[in-house]
Amino acid sequence: MKIEFSGTTGIVTGAASGIGRAIAEGYAAAGGTVIVSDLNRDAAQKVADAIVAAGGRALAFAADVALESDIQALVRFAEDETGSLSHLVNNAGIGGAQATTGDYPVEAWRKVIDVNLIGVFLGMRFAIPAMKRAGGGAVVNLSSILGSVGFAKSSAYVAAKHGVNGLTKAAALEHAADGIRVNAVGPGFISTPMLDEHLDRQTLDYLATQHALQRLGTADEVASLVLYLLSDQASFITGSYHLVDGGYTAR
Ligand code: NAP
Repeated sequence: MKIEFSGTTGIVTGAASGIGRAIAEGYAAAGGTVIVSDLNRDAAQKVADAIVAAGGRALAFAADVALESDIQALVRFAEDETGSLSHLVNNAGIGGAQATTGDYPVEAWRKVIDVNLIGVFLGMRFAIPAMKRAGGGAVVNLSSILGSVGFAKSSAYVAAKHGVNGLTKAAALEHAADGIRVNAVGPGFISTPMLDEHLDRQTLDYLATQHALQRLGTADEVASLVLYLLSDQASFITGSYHLVDGGYTAR
């Protein structure tokens, strides 16, 4: 059982950091050409350069997943530069403000939905026609454990991730006949800049205890599942939500 992406191109959004970076590195290590996309062009270019220095194929492209014109341009870039697009990982996401629903700043709530839910729709809206032109493909959408359980002071994030799971199922039903599989992945709390830069040590230690395995996960542990679902090894898996959560939701 070997995961192999030789001869294919995949886009990873939010790939300059954390989980997205690990997925981009893994995709290239398995032989594929990866489009490293992120908000910040320099940060994306640095990751692409590191992948190329390690012997892989990577190109950088700056795009805001919440902007239709950026995502259209990203997909066009992937096709123009490499000939076709087979894989998409809708990974870019933000944590958003922390406030109870009764206090949540309305514009901040909309922003989380724009990036974490509409961004996933836009990725599929423009990548799926390209995958049809390529004769098929696979999409993985980054959801969260918070796509199936609640979490106080994060209602926008929880709502967006629950939405990602529904969107994943609908798109999988619609595009199975096109040879396109669509799945969602739900990580537990993972040690990445999203967490490490926003939470103090005490909170991180508390979150670790909420997982049966008594620790936070790593970006590589999430990337392994994402790459498996993208690959032909997962040829009978579509429309489903897969946890990589150290037992967080088993309670
Ligand atoms: P991260 O380290 O913060 O990386 C996310 C990347 O996405 C950053 O480079 C960020 O750029 C970029 N980004 C933010 N908004 C964007 C936009 N509008 N368009 C394009 N790129 C954008 O986060 P992570 O922890 O790796 O999270 C990756 C995904 O996993 C997210 O969808 C997240 O919700 C999900 N997830 C994470 C955890 C966790 O515990 N870490 C758990 C469950 C699910 P800037 O740094 O410039 O903002």
